[in-house]
Amino acid sequence: MKYWDYYLEPTKYTDDCYHIGSKSAPCWLIKSTDGLILLDTGLPQTAYQIMLNLKLLGCDYRDIKHIIHSHGHIDHIGGTSALVQLTGAKTYIGRGDADTVKGLNQLQWTNEFGMPFEEAFEPDVLIQNGDEIVIGDKKFTFYETPGHTQGTLTIFFNVTEKGKKLIAGMFGGAGLNTMSKSYLDKYNLPYSLREDFLNSIDRIYNMIPDVHLGNHPENSNHFQKLAKANGENNPFIDGSTWQSFLDTQKANAIELFRKE
Ligand SMILES: [Zn+2]
Repeated sequence: MKYWDYYLEPTKYTDDCYHIGSKSAPCWLIKSTDGLILLDTGLPQTAYQIMLNLKLLGCDYRDIKHIIHSHGHIDHIGGTSALVQLTGAKTYIGRGDADTVKGLNQLQWTNEFGMPFEEAFEPDVLIQNGDEIVIGDKKFTFYETPGHTQGTLTIFFNVTEKGKKLIAGMFGGAGLNTMSKSYLDKYNLPYSLREDFLNSIDRIYNMIPDVHLGNHPENSNHFQKLAKANGENNPFIDGSTWQSFLDTQKANAIELFRKE
């Protein structure tokens, strides 16, 4: 698969929140009264798709003022350094992943992708558990939910659909790839991250958002929901996939930890 095959057209989730990322990794566009906010920036190789999708939505990339990250893996931070050079946007990351995005360790998952890491950046804001950050008319609430990485964040913020106020939410790090014993051993990471992952799920399990933003499109059944869009109802106003996704994550994690 070539990187251009990852392309997805922009998808409106709410009047102020769009998926403009690729099939492989997300990028969420959030329109605020203090400019455009991006949540994750995908792989470096697909950053041009973000620019294309912004243009298709009639947005000016120069209005990107803030870039928030769910965690420090290359498929979530890959476009950031280029976008910061272009726009001067302020960047946010969970404090546990700060060294990762600065390039001070090798936890960006680039080794596993067989890529060099050339997209280091200096984050402007390090986020801690319970932080609330107001950007224009948007208020973000962050929870540290380590496991997938040490700095993984779960993120909630207010959105609007046809004048109705709703909460969008993303569980910021799924995927058990970083919790195998071989991976933890290779990078000298504590096995306690596995327990952290289960505790993280428990902590945010009942914080069901109205709009579930996948940390990868399939995590929130993006494509199944998209197929239901018919112009009348908005299939993305659906938090039911939040707990079912977390249930699957937890079951798979317990199975992995039992085997190893
Ligand atoms: Zn990841």
